[in-house]
Amino acid sequence: MGFFQKIKGFLVSDKNPPLTRRDEQGFVTMSNGSAAGEERVFSQNRFYIEEGILKLEEGKCPYCGYELENPPSRKRNCPSCKNDMYVRTLPYVDEAKKVRVLVTEEKAEKIDIAWAKIAGTYEELIKDKKRFEEMKQQLFNAWGTVPSDSDVNWHLMMNNRIEHYNNQQWGLYRNTTLRMAEHL
Ligand SMILES: [Zn+2]
Repeated sequence: MGFFQKIKGFLVSDKNPPLTRRDEQGFVTMSNGSAAGEERVFSQNRFYIEEGILKLEEGKCPYCGYELENPPSRKRNCPSCKNDMYVRTLPYVDEAKKVRVLVTEEKAEKIDIAWAKIAGTYEELIKDKKRFEEMKQQLFNAWGTVPSDSDVNWHLMMNNRIEHYNNQQWGLYRNTTLRMAEHL
C-alpha cells in the first residue's frame, strides 16, 4: 500500500471516532458510549508529531537525525551535531503505555512542564527555575565565568542542606546529602 493510501485509510477509519473529551492537561477520555467503556489516556500524539521528539528506540538524534549506536539512558551529547539530547518519558496514565523519548532541550522543558502540571507541582517548578537562574548569576558574579548546570545544582543542594540543618529537618537533610553524594 502506498503512503497516500495509508493516510487515506487512516482518515476513513477515523471517520467515526469514539466519543472523546480533552481536558486542559492534555488528557483525553475516550468512550464507546457506556460508562464502563471509558478510558483516560494522555494524548501522546500531541507530542509525537512535534519536531525534536523521537521515540527512544529509534535511536536517532532529535536535532540532526544522526543514527546513534545505542539509545542513551540519560542526557548525552550527539556525536555528530554536539547538541545535548535529553531522555524523557511522555506523561501517561497507564504505566504499561509509557513511552520514552529522546528530545531536544526545548522539548525536554516542555515535557517537564506537562508533567509538573499533571503532578500539581508547576508552581514549584517555576520557583526552582527561578532559584536556578539566580544561583547561576550569583556564581557567575563570583567566578567571572559561566558555571555549568552541574555546578549550579551542586550549590543549590548545598544551600538546601544548610537550610534543612538550620530548621532541624533531619529527614530532608539526609535526603539532600544522599542526592549530593549521587551527584558526585
Ligand atoms: Zn545530532
